[in-house]
Amino acid sequence: MKIVDLVYTPVFVPIEAPLRYSQGAHPGFSRIIVQLKTDEGLVGLGECYGGKAREGQLEEFRASLRGEDPFQLERIRWKLASPGALKLFGHVLPFAAVEFACLDLQGKALGRPVSDLLGGRVRDRIQFCAYLFYRYNNPQGWGEVSNADQMVAWAKELVEKYKFQTIKFKNGVFPVDEEIETFIALRKAFPRHKIRIDPNAVWSVSTAIRVAKALRDYEPEYLEDPTWGIRGLARVNRKAPWVTLASNMSVFSFDDLPPAVIQDALDVVLLDPHWYGGIHRARVAAQVCETFSMDISMHSGTELGISQAAMLHLAAVLPNLSGACDSHYHHLADDVIVGGKLAYENGGMAVPTGPGLGVELDFDKLEKYHEMSKKQAMGSWIEDPNRPSEVTYYPKW
Ligand code: MG
Repeated sequence: MKIVDLVYTPVFVPIEAPLRYSQGAHPGFSRIIVQLKTDEGLVGLGECYGGKAREGQLEEFRASLRGEDPFQLERIRWKLASPGALKLFGHVLPFAAVEFACLDLQGKALGRPVSDLLGGRVRDRIQFCAYLFYRYNNPQGWGEVSNADQMVAWAKELVEKYKFQTIKFKNGVFPVDEEIETFIALRKAFPRHKIRIDPNAVWSVSTAIRVAKALRDYEPEYLEDPTWGIRGLARVNRKAPWVTLASNMSVFSFDDLPPAVIQDALDVVLLDPHWYGGIHRARVAAQVCETFSMDISMHSGTELGISQAAMLHLAAVLPNLSGACDSHYHHLADDVIVGGKLAYENGGMAVPTGPGLGVELDFDKLEKYHEMSKKQAMGSWIEDPNRPSEVTYYPKW
């Protein structure tokens, strides 16, 4: 089987209401859908973050991929995404989409799910968290979440609807004391749920320590990227040793793992196959983390169904997965896969069992959301005019 073409399609898929975080807001999710076509008529699917830079890289990949056998993934990796190419040219995200598509092709050719190609599943269902954000109203006039009462009410809705056992509170938007109060309100409303927080590295070390002290009696599952940098995390870890620390921002590649270990910077590495160079490499990273006694869970970066399926297969084969995975998926209003959105059940999702990734493209939806992408000058990110500069390292622009 030989690859004969790579087709990429930018899409923009609406979400229920705009999501706020420390550096802006998401009006919807911009992604690129990749189709790898072969001489045998099979088509492999991949997906990565949207953006012109990624589109340009995929454009460059096309010629290099022609004639390659999708089973020869190590050869393809060293051609497109050697450690040097990842770091110097930033090939990591589009390569992940190509890797997903090659694995999809392998599975389709063999009639086996991707998880079978990775050593086989240790679990059939993956647990996810309720991913809470501060939100703006949508154009229909609902959805705003701007205070503790609204956050608790929304969390109750999500937990009731999806049966989540873990809650993630995305913060770093309002002044720290307000967000501490919101966490405490969530803890009181959900005494037995795990609750994690993620201000996207926006606090100084001293602010992060203040939050760790204020929340000590309220048992956060972990503080994710409370401050920037491996050394920053290490200092928080030394000064607030009781708190569990996680990262997907300061630790997001193989290069970051040795200093994280040497500096004893964190407890939980949030893996993401998009950032580690594909599903195979994320699996290797999971083993490195186990070797150095760091727990793993999974980051989410606005995935649609193809990436979500890739992450389900990965999560299915990781014995040392230590908590519910993050996923933006429940925010989506729709998806580009046949049958619509993947279904949640009891706070989790079933790992697809069909050949390859186990999902297929809905070409009408692909076209619809491709048209929508043309109207989004800023992609997945917009300025948040109300972002208070007082809580953040980052200047208000
Ligand atoms: Mg994060």
